[in-house]
Amino acid sequence: MTDCIQHKSETSEDASKTCIFCKIINKDIPSSKVYEDDDFIAILDISPANKGHTLIIPKKHSETLLDTEDEILKEMLPIAKKIAKAICQTTGCPGYNILINNYKVAGQLVPHIHLHIIPRTNKDDFQLEWTHKEYEENEMQKLADEIKSSL
Ligand code: AMP
Ligand code: ZN
Repeated sequence: MTDCIQHKSETSEDASKTCIFCKIINKDIPSSKVYEDDDFIAILDISPANKGHTLIIPKKHSETLLDTEDEILKEMLPIAKKIAKAICQTTGCPGYNILINNYKVAGQLVPHIHLHIIPRTNKDDFQLEWTHKEYEENEMQKLADEIKSSL
């Protein structure tokens, strides 16, 4: 079993004292809010990759995708769609990236799940690049079968 599956979440009660996004949700610290409903807030990232970079944050504390209730996840993308459209209209960006960092190894700094919407321009310096690896013979199908049998 990998680290990520074994990872333990804080309870919502613990988190509201220590988690920066819970503090923002509870209005203990300020934010530039662009959206709020019963289950979510969306705020401008304080240190944006590009101007208009927005974070969609469920109000109920959970750390990563794996800890987050399906009902919350189902609500998240339609909200992202609405906000991405508004960001494009406001900033004039011709495109955007949507991402969720899960665990430190993947760049997650704040352990409260959030979805980034990063507006893009033709001239920006945002990088999301990787070198393309190759599989050995049969390795790809074997890995696909292993993942499939772990579902
Ligand atoms: P991640 O690396 O996916 O955990 O992203 C965390 C993001 O939260 C970073 O892009 C930070 O700039 C942003 N962030 C941290 N503190 C605040 C804050 N107080 N208000 C708004 N954004 C924040
Ligand atoms: Zn939290």
